[in-house]
Amino acid sequence: MSKAVGNIYIVVAPSGAGKTSLVAALLQAEPTVELSVSYTTRAARTGEEDGKHYHFIDHTAFQSMIAAGDFLEYAEVYGNFYGTSVRWLQSRLEAGRDILLEIDWQGAEQVRKVFPDAVGIFILPPSIEELERRLRGRGTDSEEVILRRLASARSEIDKVAEYDYIVVNDDFERARVDLISIFRARRLRAEVQTRRLAQALARMGVQRG
Ligand code: 5GP
Repeated sequence: MSKAVGNIYIVVAPSGAGKTSLVAALLQAEPTVELSVSYTTRAARTGEEDGKHYHFIDHTAFQSMIAAGDFLEYAEVYGNFYGTSVRWLQSRLEAGRDILLEIDWQGAEQVRKVFPDAVGIFILPPSIEELERRLRGRGTDSEEVILRRLASARSEIDKVAEYDYIVVNDDFERARVDLISIFRARRLRAEVQTRRLAQALARMGVQRG
């Protein structure tokens, strides 16, 4: 029997599109999916825990990790560095786990060069106006940061056709179910099911092809 190897799912969204809440809801509904915890040079926000939300490290440590080839991908986003650990990812994939990467579009491009089968999911806000309203509503960012995020959002949305799936986050509950559906449908593919159900299929007289 061929060894099960997990899938990589990459979730990308402009900031303010609701990615973090959607991913949290997905992980609750699909507890076997594992979220990759990135390394970052940005300071922890209130409520964020080292090792859970990110591995918080300084610039020197980040540069050493780059030099050691520890990252599958890394990128600078709004002045901070973020990277995905290659060792962790490889070991979890080999254990057959589905891995979710919540990374930016630059990271997504790099990962898909190495893993062309990685599933790309783009979370789209219903409109730029709505995105702006949400960014302002957060009350956490200065005017300059909001304008920069909106400009980035436009160029990110420009690349939406490069993804395998697009989830529109106009209604949270619908977007949540859409996101979960992607994972469920991927697992129901015959290629996956024939492996998972090998014994049951054998008892039904199905010969392995
Ligand atoms: P935040 O600072 O708001 O947590 O994240 C800022 C951006 O960096 C988000 O778009 C987030 O998805 C992205 N990001 C987080 N971790 C990684 C990573 O490991 N690699 C890349 N390329 N982007 C990341």
